[in-house]
Amino acid sequence: MSSPNAESTAFRSALEVIRAVEPRVADAIGAELTDQRESLKLIASENYASPATLLAMGNWFSDKYAEGTVGRRFYAGCQNVDTVEALAAEHARELFGASHAYVQPHSGIDANLVAFWAILADRVESPALKRAQVRQVNDLSEEDWFALRRELGDQRMLGMSLDAGGHLTHGFRPNISGKMFDQRSYGTDPATGLIDYDRVAEAAREFRPLILVAGYSAYPRKVNFRIMREIADSVGATFMVDMAHFAGLVAGKVFTGDFDPVPHAHIVTTTTHKSLRGPRGGMVLCGPELADQVDRGCPMVLGGPLPHVMAAKAVALAEARRPDFADYAQRIVDNAQALAEGLLRRGATLVTGGTDNHLVLIDVSGYGLTGRQAEQALLDSGIVTNRNAVPQDPNGAWYTSGIRIGTPALTTRGLGTAEMDATAELIHTVLSQTTPGSNADGTPSKAKYVLDPALADKVSRQATDLLSTHPLYPSVTLA
Ligand SMILES: *Cc1c(COP(=O)(O)O)cnc(C)c1O
Repeated sequence: MSSPNAESTAFRSALEVIRAVEPRVADAIGAELTDQRESLKLIASENYASPATLLAMGNWFSDKYAEGTVGRRFYAGCQNVDTVEALAAEHARELFGASHAYVQPHSGIDANLVAFWAILADRVESPALKRAQVRQVNDLSEEDWFALRRELGDQRMLGMSLDAGGHLTHGFRPNISGKMFDQRSYGTDPATGLIDYDRVAEAAREFRPLILVAGYSAYPRKVNFRIMREIADSVGATFMVDMAHFAGLVAGKVFTGDFDPVPHAHIVTTTTHKSLRGPRGGMVLCGPELADQVDRGCPMVLGGPLPHVMAAKAVALAEARRPDFADYAQRIVDNAQALAEGLLRRGATLVTGGTDNHLVLIDVSGYGLTGRQAEQALLDSGIVTNRNAVPQDPNGAWYTSGIRIGTPALTTRGLGTAEMDATAELIHTVLSQTTPGSNADGTPSKAKYVLDPALADKVSRQATDLLSTHPLYPSVTLA
């Protein structure tokens, strides 16, 4: 461990140097720390990276071009980038028990694009795609482009539906995957809220996808990846798992056996900044069959690698290999379950009735609210969450009927199950005291709401008190 003093000095000095050039940036960075310290952050996809991870990003690695892979670069002088990229990949392989790790993707969306192209290149007989492999996609003639679209256009993807908790990169229209693939989705059982594997198998038999995708952003339960692999095998599909949300629970060995995607999937993608607690970025894990295609990620679909972020990935992955990370991962789940129980005890309705991962989905229609009203009322009260659709949501993807909350960030701060019960009390108080508002013409509004500002203030102060016992980055003082 570095001394707390060193961490404070590092951030203070950095701000002093920045302040001399553009003080408003230094101020904004300082203000961001204050905001993060003061908010009860329940956003399931966010976390707090360690000072070492943060500091690994602010340096001259940012100045280096490093297209290519370790030991095979299109630029000279990449020996130090090779060191950190190889280290990050080695830590990732060891941590997850994967034979190959590609640590260049800049984000989870980028990691998925790398995986999709790798699978297409591996599986689809396409002369135009072969030509695209040797030239840059940008250099393809118009005829080649049309050939490519003809040859790839009818490829099929089966993934989890958005309202059941799937992600838009799994073949939905706002993302290029929705244009690349003919997509169909599987949902959850309306009675239980759980994935019905028989229905997934049936959909796979009917649709015969090239790719079966598992993984989610808003499903509060474990997924049985052994069964999903059997389904993929039964129709000859490539099985891809996007573990962006729960990679930390895999790394911390909370998800093992049938619930660990790595031994079961052909290819696994992830972010590094959610429960894994690393820098903002992405990663792909796979076996030897897909490794060569995956390594073509840059320049096929990725811009030049970010060596400073790969350095930070190496640091964060080294942290995740330490025994205390397993303890952290278990506490994330213990906290989510305590939060769920606290909410249920007070009368909230939860999708699937609880959780066995890091997130909880509250169906706020039980409080007579839309997700949007609930999200804003909670925000007024110092509680940061996000609205999210629930299965078969009558309010659609914009207003929604759900609030998604997660525990990775608060667990990093050191909050435990007792504080989760107190958090459940705050959430329930706000939601039960908020009423839907109406439009100027008297019709009911899905966005407007009424909440006594005095109550919002009181809850806000209670949230601050709750956090004050567990300061964020206690080693860092900027003043
Ligand atoms: C967050 C998320 C992504 C996207 O990650 P970005 O880093 O924001 O691009 C992809 N897939 C899933 C399942 C996610 O939850």
